[in-house]
Amino acid sequence: MLASAGFTADKQILMIAGKPSHPPGQHEHNAGVLLLSKWLNTVPGIHTTTSLSGAWPDAAEFDKADAIFFFCDGGENHLAFQADHPAIIAKAAARGVGLMFMHFATEPPAKSGHQEMLDWIAGFFDLNYTINPFYEAEFNALPAHPITRGVKPFKIKDEWYYNIRFRESLRNFTGILITTPPADTIKADGIRSGNADVRTKIGQPHFVSWAGERQDGGRSVGFNGGHYHSNLGDENFRKIVLNSLVWITKAEVPAKGVEVTVTPAELAENLDPKPMRPRPPAAAPPAEK
Ligand SMILES: [Zn+2]
Repeated sequence: MLASAGFTADKQILMIAGKPSHPPGQHEHNAGVLLLSKWLNTVPGIHTTTSLSGAWPDAAEFDKADAIFFFCDGGENHLAFQADHPAIIAKAAARGVGLMFMHFATEPPAKSGHQEMLDWIAGFFDLNYTINPFYEAEFNALPAHPITRGVKPFKIKDEWYYNIRFRESLRNFTGILITTPPADTIKADGIRSGNADVRTKIGQPHFVSWAGERQDGGRSVGFNGGHYHSNLGDENFRKIVLNSLVWITKAEVPAKGVEVTVTPAELAENLDPKPMRPRPPAAAPPAEK
């Protein structure tokens, strides 16, 4: 068999999916990780290991990882911030392992894990500072960066968190997806939308995905989208995610980005089960929809 000419990467990505937590099609931790994993394994030199439904990988998996991806619930239940998990991640980071946190996983607990997130990916969803509206974000200008290879300007609806709490100096980090959220994404009520800081930034651009190199030499990406599983069906959205995962391993991102074909059937694979709904009382009016 012929080896891939000129390709020397042999990189392992550990992909950690949290438990199901939302209705089918939203926060599809398992389905998302399984699809991304399948696609990444088509890239020469890239290999993945998946850990599903909130299972925490054993030490050997961390030891052999060149990059670690988190797609899981955030807040108090964040997988990265249970028990001794922060120390395990910090140890991997210290040897230059790549780190990427997607969507809810960008949010550490309310009162802990903040410094870790700043150390690991330079920014985080800070409760009552960062907001989480749903809107169609327009990405009209993409920076020249390996992660944007093969990506064209695009727009797509997602729960694009913004007003991320970043390090004071973003040296060695840069915005990858930059958008100016519509003014109506800041509403008058709601603990996540009414904070004074975000109101001073109406009409300003925000980073909703960013990338850079840490002091320890590892590469990191924060990616705020990912609420809707169907967004992986969008070529540009998908390519940004896949290119990011290749880039954080320090492998070369393909010249046209990671190109895969996707079918509707693939997007329907491994979705979370529908939650059980209590049977309505006999006298109840017909269910909605
Ligand atoms: Zn969401």
